[in-house]
Amino acid sequence: MISHVLPTYNRAPLSFERGEGSWAITTDGTRYLDLGAGIAVNVLGHAHPELVATLTEQAGKIWHVSNLYQIPDQQRLADLLVDATFADTVFFTNSGTEAAELAIKMARKYWDFEGNPDRTEILTFDGAFHGRSTGAIAAAGSEKMIKGFGPLMPGFRQLPFGDIPALRDAISDKTCAVMIEPIQGEGGIRPLSDDELGEIRALCDKTGALLILDEVQSGMGRTGRLFAHEYAGITPDIMMVAKGIGGGFPLGAVLATEDAAAGMVAGTHGSTYGGNPLGCAIGARVMQIVADPEFLAEVNRKASLLRQKLEGLIAAHPDLFDSVRGQGLMIGLKCKIAPTELVNAGYDQQILTIPAADNVLRLLPPLNISDEDIAEAVARLDKAAASLSGE
Ligand SMILES: *Cc1c(COP(=O)(O)O)cnc(C)c1O
Repeated sequence: MISHVLPTYNRAPLSFERGEGSWAITTDGTRYLDLGAGIAVNVLGHAHPELVATLTEQAGKIWHVSNLYQIPDQQRLADLLVDATFADTVFFTNSGTEAAELAIKMARKYWDFEGNPDRTEILTFDGAFHGRSTGAIAAAGSEKMIKGFGPLMPGFRQLPFGDIPALRDAISDKTCAVMIEPIQGEGGIRPLSDDELGEIRALCDKTGALLILDEVQSGMGRTGRLFAHEYAGITPDIMMVAKGIGGGFPLGAVLATEDAAAGMVAGTHGSTYGGNPLGCAIGARVMQIVADPEFLAEVNRKASLLRQKLEGLIAAHPDLFDSVRGQGLMIGLKCKIAPTELVNAGYDQQILTIPAADNVLRLLPPLNISDEDIAEAVARLDKAAASLSGE
């Protein structure tokens, strides 16, 4: 008989009922060091006192009103995002998938608005992940996600990730947009170099194609900058944000330049929940904390500390680990065994990690993890690895 919860996940037999900072605590009181942070969502860890205070205060005022009215908290969060980024305008969603949908719609609408309605093809990349809607799976094009769900939304073409010559061949003045993650998350913490991102921006500029960056996983301080593309010194035309932006509250956003958003006039898009006062009050608090240069400097310091300790872990277990990659606290350990084996061995040491494609074990700790917890995490990973090597 089918389970009452639709069985689309292979779930570990762990039930968490509380959290404190970087720790998640099960119903029987066991404490797990959480290096997954709900897949890069809990940027400030669990039960952060300031976020709890903001949520409870807002909950006593107003939770939801329709976008038929002015929403001051939404305006405030939009102001913070516009002030901190390339963007001139923001639309709020409840998830990364919805942000992908709007990014696709906005890019196509742009060309329609420009009098070029046939300019619809969006170039995407293998290993990409943009969410689970029919549009987002068509964009990523992975066999695993699309099989049985056709017919898919047409107009996407996947290229090899990071293959600039392939992009140069494929892009033209007929291309609607290029849509890419600066660092692939689900694809296995696969980064683009600054040069590659620069080349992609230049090819978009040359042909007029819009650049859509998916920073759902890499954004909100995860890499040690507010957004990963800042390292390359480029800006997108449209950017998808979600995961970290709500610190655990379901919230997403599409950021865009005024030009890229030109077609999105009244009535062209909407959302019942997107941008509601509760989500935006929390989002604004998260932004105030995470966008602070001192906070980001700390993310980078913690990242170097963790990175250095992980090099030691790899050296100690060359049979299991190949290398470490990523940026800031978006870290991938390339494994020589199936990463799920390490995830499972980690459960026995009370540490939570996340597998990704390309044989990678993902570490996405809260951005405010303590130095002590970083040392503890690597000690637990070392024990998990030792248990697999039969030591
Ligand atoms: C998680 C993710 C999404 C989808 O976000 P949801 O909130 O799960 O809909 C899209 N793009 C990237 C890069 C992601 O990591």
